[in-house]
Amino acid sequence: MSVFFFCYTDAMQSLYPFLFDLNGMTQSYLWGGEKLQAFGKPGIPNQPLAEVWEVSDRSEDDRISVIANGPLAGKTLRWLMENHQPELLGKAKPINGKFPLLIKLLDAKQQLSLQVHPPQAIATQLGGEPKTECWLLLDNTDLQSTITVGLEHTTDQVEFKAAITNDTLKPLINTLPVKTDDCMFLPSGRLHAIGAGCLILEIQENSNTTYRVFDWNRVDPTTNSPRELHVEKALASIDFADIQPQLQQPMPIIETTGETLVRCPQFTLERWRVAESNEHQPMDSFEVITCLTGTLRLISDSTELRLSPLTTSLIPASIASYSMHG
Ligand SMILES: [Zn+2]
Repeated sequence: MSVFFFCYTDAMQSLYPFLFDLNGMTQSYLWGGEKLQAFGKPGIPNQPLAEVWEVSDRSEDDRISVIANGPLAGKTLRWLMENHQPELLGKAKPINGKFPLLIKLLDAKQQLSLQVHPPQAIATQLGGEPKTECWLLLDNTDLQSTITVGLEHTTDQVEFKAAITNDTLKPLINTLPVKTDDCMFLPSGRLHAIGAGCLILEIQENSNTTYRVFDWNRVDPTTNSPRELHVEKALASIDFADIQPQLQQPMPIIETTGETLVRCPQFTLERWRVAESNEHQPMDSFEVITCLTGTLRLISDSTELRLSPLTTSLIPASIASYSMHG
């Protein structure tokens, strides 16, 4: 006869829906603006606010989310990954031991550079990481905003490289008008640039390999010179068969008030309209919830959170069910 004795210690401390402290999680780039401060995001005095890293496990960028609520306040997402990974991720897989997604808010007062992230096979050759991502256009996106995604028509590396040199890229690249609630999917290898006036929720694989193709002949006033381009690596990474990709078409989720915007191996993005109450059972994976408009009350066994617009909560996979109230 065998007798087993299980001892549950701190490792079984139950997790709960987390909020993160955003101090120190912001980035000031030249292209940033003032829209995110209006949502209560911590600004940087006298500098444009370009990015807020809402959920991040990236020590190499000095951006690791710190828990802001409950008994684990002060612990980090890295600590959760090291001590509670199965309860946090469920069936989701880490990337190189890290939390698999990076969630950001972006305020592009000016156009961003034209860029690309390498597909897996190319990333391995070039010593980078692939990055599939998507953009959800938020309230406060300017009416005349555009994004650049993929190519306008068939071209090749030689013609494209000449167009970079001669500043004649415009006819080769696909530019789309965008408005609030639009969603664009960007698999690794898709050429892209966020246009001026876009306020964006960006969901991406936990990676930061970006090859800059063209920076619209801008000079960085802090250095008085153009920013570095990575033309050869970018040319190797661009999917030249990616002609005129279009915005995502939302797919209704049967018998609910939700719709699926993106479903890919790396993540699924859904948008829900929450009225009085929605019971929700997570699909054996963590979930990240961002309130877009109004106020969202999120109630689990142990925790009740109130999310205001553009506030994000991470729901561990170990939460069996929770309810949302609009
Ligand atoms: Zn990107």
